[in-house]
Amino acid sequence: DEAIALVRRGMTETPDFPEPGILFRDLSGLFADPEGLPVVGEALLTVHDGFGPFDAVAGVEARGFVLGTAAALAGGAGMLAVRKAGKLPGAVLTERYALEYGTAALEVHPDTLPAGSRVLVVDDVLATGGTLAATLRLIERAGWEVAGVAVVIELDGLDGRAALPDGVPVGALLTL
Ligand code: IMP
Repeated sequence: DEAIALVRRGMTETPDFPEPGILFRDLSGLFADPEGLPVVGEALLTVHDGFGPFDAVAGVEARGFVLGTAAALAGGAGMLAVRKAGKLPGAVLTERYALEYGTAALEVHPDTLPAGSRVLVVDDVLATGGTLAATLRLIERAGWEVAGVAVVIELDGLDGRAALPDGVPVGALLTL
């Protein structure tokens, strides 16, 4: 598959980053690839048959912004920027989560999209699922519907899908 080949071409794997024992996959090369970025953005829309229609693609700061925008443009949808805590002014919704390494919080403004909007959530890597689970909680709390979750890379053995609510369609381009 063309998209998978382009991901492999644009991915680096670095052992013991950012902590000992973690093999870090970085997609900066894919983001910088004028052929790879649009192909992968479009491919994310079809990693699962069950996404259905969506009004926006959500991307988690920061790598999800790149992929989410590429997918949103491919799908004729808007882009919902899910921010790290402290970046957005005003009354925000906040969800805390545990990372593979450390803890963090994500935020959105509940008035960014109309109530009932369907949102497809995109990220680079599904590891433990904590980041995406927090993102789905934010979307629910804001009054929107989750169309599904699309990631470039799913890490096998961490069971990230189990951290996501039952019934949410989840697709990955590549399982490593
Ligand atoms: P999770 O919350 O444990 O599923 O971790 C996923 C989040 O951590 C994503 O937002 C990723 O960007 C980041 N992450 C975890 N492992 C890696 C990796 O190997 N490469 C790049 N990002 C990673």
